[in-house]
Amino acid sequence: EGLVKYFVADRSLLGRPTAWIKAVDGVSFRVEAGKTLALVGESGCGKSTVSRLVLRLIEPDAGSIRFEGRDLLALDADQLRAFRRDAQIIFQDPYASLNPRMTVSQILTEPLALHDLVPSARRRERVEELLRLVGLEPRFARRYPHEFSGGQRQRIAIARALAVEPRLIICDEPVSALDVSIRSQILNLLRDLQDRLGLAYIFVSHDLAVVKHIAHRVAVMNLGVIVETADAQALFAAPRHPYSRALLSAIPVPKPRAKRARILLQGEMPSALDPPPGCRFHTRCPYAVERCRVEPPQLLADGDGHFTACHRTAELPPADAVVPADGG
Ligand code: SF4
Ligand code: MG
Repeated sequence: EGLVKYFVADRSLLGRPTAWIKAVDGVSFRVEAGKTLALVGESGCGKSTVSRLVLRLIEPDAGSIRFEGRDLLALDADQLRAFRRDAQIIFQDPYASLNPRMTVSQILTEPLALHDLVPSARRRERVEELLRLVGLEPRFARRYPHEFSGGQRQRIAIARALAVEPRLIICDEPVSALDVSIRSQILNLLRDLQDRLGLAYIFVSHDLAVVKHIAHRVAVMNLGVIVETADAQALFAAPRHPYSRALLSAIPVPKPRAKRARILLQGEMPSALDPPPGCRFHTRCPYAVERCRVEPPQLLADGDGHFTACHRTAELPPADAVVPADGG
């Protein structure tokens, strides 16, 4: 609720007294148990910072975070250790996230030992169970990460996250580093695990095409703020914010005859170091008017839990009739 996180930029580099990177600037959302919220946006939009805030890896400058009713910012050390079981993270690069000197068995046993979860006599059994859960053979336990493909490594990383029986997993670009042919397998696995174990996911991605296959709800971020949030079906059927429309227009349409105009965004993405005044999207928005340059739009409910932060939502053409930025 109302999350804010600024970082101090390197002053010497910029040659001015104080420069703040407004990484997250007033972000609110909720994730339902057993469901997936996708946080979508280009790199630098603040989505990874939000993940780190939720996991309590960094402290917010303002705002509150509650998990199952508990105030996460008020946890003492013991409670925080317990929360480390409830919430886990899977990273983008399964090559970097697994210790190359540890066997799969050691990788999966470590969290069990750390949280004192399974008596040592039963740990081997639990490791095999975890491997089966992610579709790997129990005999792989004795091998090292380098003996596996990227997709298999991501399965191992997922098994490690599951070892502590979390209820929330943050998936930070979990398929972006994988071959396209492997992506749907990992997405299917994540969905299957969600159904079986009742997991909630915060799925962080720059890629709406990937998000389409997993999200129940989507929040689109641009330069530290959420510009649109809605149920996934509603957002994919009819995105309202010009930025969401542009992101969505970049996804190839499966049916050959269905046509959707590709919206090309003008100019470079501004930096979170010095976000534009007014609507932070105005420098790239094909629909920007004078008001957009001065007044930041609020995230307003638009019926059915669909929220959009745009001064011109009501006047824009329906999403299917969107015209490219050049007006052609
Ligand atoms: Fe574009 Fe203005 Fe809406 Fe921002 S507020 S998205 S600049 S039309
Ligand atoms: Mg990131």
